[in-house]
Amino acid sequence: MPPSKLFINGCWEDSACDRFVDVCNPATGEHITTVPDADSCDVDRAVAAARASFEKKTWRGMDPSKRERILWNLGDLLVKHRDELAALITSENGKTLRESAGADVGPAADCFRYYAGWVRKIYGETIPVDGPFFNYTLREPVGVVGAIVPWNFPLQIAAWKVAPALACGCSVVLKPSELTPLNALRFAEIAMEAGVPEGVLNVVTGYGATTGEALALHPDVDKISFTGSIATARKLLQSSSVSNLKRLSLELGGKSPNIVFPDADMDQAVKASLWGIFGGKGEVCSAASRLLVHADVHDRFLEDLSARARKLRVGNPLDPATQMGSQISARQMDRILDYIESGKQEGATVLTGGERDTAGDKAKGYFVKPTVFSGVKPEMKIAREEIFGPVVSAIRFSDADEAVRIANGTVYGLAAAVWTRDVRLAHRMAGEIKAGSVWINTYNSFDSGSPFGGYKQSGFGRDLGSYALDQYTNVKSVWVAL
Ligand code: NAD
Repeated sequence: MPPSKLFINGCWEDSACDRFVDVCNPATGEHITTVPDADSCDVDRAVAAARASFEKKTWRGMDPSKRERILWNLGDLLVKHRDELAALITSENGKTLRESAGADVGPAADCFRYYAGWVRKIYGETIPVDGPFFNYTLREPVGVVGAIVPWNFPLQIAAWKVAPALACGCSVVLKPSELTPLNALRFAEIAMEAGVPEGVLNVVTGYGATTGEALALHPDVDKISFTGSIATARKLLQSSSVSNLKRLSLELGGKSPNIVFPDADMDQAVKASLWGIFGGKGEVCSAASRLLVHADVHDRFLEDLSARARKLRVGNPLDPATQMGSQISARQMDRILDYIESGKQEGATVLTGGERDTAGDKAKGYFVKPTVFSGVKPEMKIAREEIFGPVVSAIRFSDADEAVRIANGTVYGLAAAVWTRDVRLAHRMAGEIKAGSVWINTYNSFDSGSPFGGYKQSGFGRDLGSYALDQYTNVKSVWVAL
């Protein structure tokens, strides 16, 4: 592919600086192209374009029914270009084509259609106040939004930010991960085709320390909507505090407990546990990375899970028969292998996997075998820290109280699952687990209408659903003396 440019004010722009990011295919190690490592001058131009469109009201001043149609069009166009976008995502990210199409482009399209439906339904209230006054509220767009997104679901998570921001009338500067910028650039082009006016959606590519930080520090950005790691979130809090106190919403990592009671439908629970950790090669914030299994069913459950993990077809993500692709980068693979090593050293048992997969062509890419650890104790590193790879840490428990204690025993609180046929137990667990999503007898269920976000250090603010609209609007109270 030819080198890419920045997307600013509806045009392809060269970067003012002379630094580039190499974009590579992690399944083959091949170089795809370069994108600019945008510096603060480039970010200034993108923010200025977004600001100008906001102040001129090119988007927020447009009739709501027209904006609704444009967002719906954008959803349709994403579906139309699904195969092309999926191929782009797979080439940058290493996940299977089926995952890129079904779990990235598909939900992104749905997200635009969902928020298209909100455009005409965002309104205030009239409030009965004391005295001779008429009081009402307006919900106004916050202004210029910086959307900083990760590489694991690059298009879906971009949609989680851009769709509600646009529905609320904001203008956006999107900063994709340096590892997966190409789908974001193509997405911006498609947005223009759908009718999003120039300047309303801009894309700046580059590293976090240059492009991301320039956006986070920018005094004319009103809000940053972020998905990524806790370490970056800490920096964003600082950037906000030393610049203009821009508002933040933070979707961070997870170490999600997947809790199996003895009365559960075992077949369903094993299948969901398998895909809960090995789907997206485990590089999923809500991955079922801690498997808590009741002592009564522990051994047979793990035997079944390991047998299925061993059979997973790991390999070329473009091959429709492949079930698990390559990790995102050599760095991420090494990180995962270090965690596997620490699990072994701390005394956990590898039931399957536990090493890099270098069979055949896989030696050129960054593949890790699906790995199941048993005998994990809650205090071990592999039970506390986010591995972000195809590694599940199984922990044995004896009763519901112990399961809750273990489930809540990390700094994270993104998601959890409970497997039981006992409806009282299910609801009790849902109430006691500190997590933004709790799945009962299912795993990784998502819908554009249902909010997603964290408790504790998994972040604050919610993506999706009506809750996300609060992130992109200011409420104004208007008083009229009668
Ligand atoms: P990351 O924090 O390294 O990067 C995320 C984004 O932030 C990238 O675009 C990166 O360039 C940018 N960035 C990095 N440093 C920056 C800085 N100083 N200032 C501004 N921007 C900066 O995370 P990642 O490695 O891309 O993604 C993995 C992490 O994301 C995991 O912890 C995972 O759990 C989390 N994640 C969370 C969710 C969720 O919805 N909660 C979803 C996906 C991923």
